This record gives sequence, C-alpha cells and structure tokens, in this order.
Amino acid sequence: MIKVTLTTVILAALILIGLTQLQGGEMEKNSKSEKNSVKDIPKDSVMSEKKINKTDDEWQCSLTPEQFRIARQKGTEPAFSGLFYNFKEPGRYVCVCCGSDLFSSDTKYESGSGWPSFWAPISDENIAMHTDTSLAMVRTELTCRNCGAHLGHVFDDGPQPTGQRYCVNSASLKFIKKDEK
Ligand code: FE
Repeated sequence: MIKVTLTTVILAALILIGLTQLQGGEMEKNSKSEKNSVKDIPKDSVMSEKKINKTDDEWQCSLTPEQFRIARQKGTEPAFSGLFYNFKEPGRYVCVCCGSDLFSSDTKYESGSGWPSFWAPISDENIAMHTDTSLAMVRTELTCRNCGAHLGHVFDDGPQPTGQRYCVNSASLKFIKKDEK
C-alpha cells in the first residue's frame, strides 16, 4: 500500500513538473510570438512617408519616356550619356518627378563613373535608401522620399568628408540655376 502511495506521489510529482515545464514553454512561445506579431512589425516607413502617390499613367503624362523608364521603373541611363554627368554649372538638382531638392552643385564631383556624382544630398530628409539585390549584387538604392522616384545608388567609395558616392541618373534630375527658384 505504501509502495503504491509512493509510486503515485512520484508519478503525480513528475506529471506536475512536466505540466509546469510544458506551460512555461508555451508561455515563452506565446511571448515570443507576441513580440513577432504582425502588428509589431514596422510598416515600410518610406511608403508611409511618401507624399505623392500617382499612377503610372499620371507619371507618363508629365515625364518623357526616358525619364519615366528610369525614375518610375528603376532604369539606368548608359554611362557618359546623361545630361549632367559632365555638367558644372552652379545651382541645385531637384527631383524630375516632384521638384524636391536633392543635390547641390557644391557637392558634385567628377567620379569617373559616367554618372552625376555627389558626396552628399542637400538633406537626408529628402532621400530614402533601400537594399537592392537585383543584378546579382547587393547595392543601396537611392529614391526621392517625397515621390519614390528612383534616383540611382549610393556607394561608400566617395571623397571626404562623407566618403559616400551618390551616383545618380541625369534623367531623374532637373537642374535649377543658382538664384533661380
Ligand atoms: Fe520626387
């Protein structure tokens, strides 16, 4: 009788420990899944910040076919072919789609790449960066934060003081002369 009672107690204890561990594991799992629940995953900040959302048809009405292909469809103009790769006038470069200030001639330099190159944007607030894994490479794509226009890519082989090279398609830019609004 005693033996049975001891066995029962041991079994009951083991079951209790097992249940406690199982519950603990479930609780841990629950708290993990809560941490990773969809509601906690940050939304695409760029998409939510983008202020201009036009359809492709609307963009096509205001852009040339080349500008549309590059700025709206992530195209690239051939090296040494763009309007601004060898352009040295003082002024600023704005987004060809929405007119947002992007780059100043003060930070433009000759990178030898064949595309207009800058070592800094006018404001980090006006641009957005995304990981681009196309063409079997990992690059950082540069877009206009205001309208999502594709501008080009950023590389870390630029000159000081930033060490960055903002390599931009001429077709994504519009030039505004110094002192012109
Ligand atoms: Fe824009």
